[in-house]
Amino acid sequence: MFNPSEYIKQHIRTVPDWPQPGVMFRDITPLLQNPKVFRVLIDMFVHRYMDQKIDVVAGLDARGFIIGSVLAYELNLGFVPIRKKGKLPFHTVSEEYELEYGSATVELHADACKQGDRVVLIDDLVATGGTMMAGKKLLERLGATVVEGAVIVDLPELGGSRLISESGLPLYTVCQFD
Ligand code: AMP
Repeated sequence: MFNPSEYIKQHIRTVPDWPQPGVMFRDITPLLQNPKVFRVLIDMFVHRYMDQKIDVVAGLDARGFIIGSVLAYELNLGFVPIRKKGKLPFHTVSEEYELEYGSATVELHADACKQGDRVVLIDDLVATGGTMMAGKKLLERLGATVVEGAVIVDLPELGGSRLISESGLPLYTVCQFD
């Protein structure tokens, strides 16, 4: 029987030792290049969120923009980008978070959503969970409710998906890599 999660997983390429030794990079570009697979993926997200009274789709820099904006279009909703530091031109709220070595900052326009908005937060992958947790905090600082985080790939061994779930944010993942 057709298994959409497995079909999607088969179109994710693993690039060893990129961008640095020891990292297995899970590359979604083969999936995006294939219109049938891309459609299966987007349809999974659309069906999941079409009846959940979502107000806004938020996407994390940068691959979350690709999935998130198509999803927003299909759901007839607006899309808001959560960007790496220094890219957004208007007033922003920002959130710093820890990386394995050092830290990173993500930013959101202060008018990106309003009090009470129900938001779904999209990225391509969860590793340590730091990026998604920072995005959630930004949206909550604007008074939004993050209904769910959603990614294509979970790397459960890095503990991020558990951290996110324990924080009270439901997380939808299409497939996993060990
Ligand atoms: P994290 O904050 O540790 O959960 O990392 C998630 C973010 O980093 C996502 O935006 C991913 O695009 C990227 N990322 C981290 N690890 C990988 C990986 N092994 N393959 C592809 N992208 C990754």
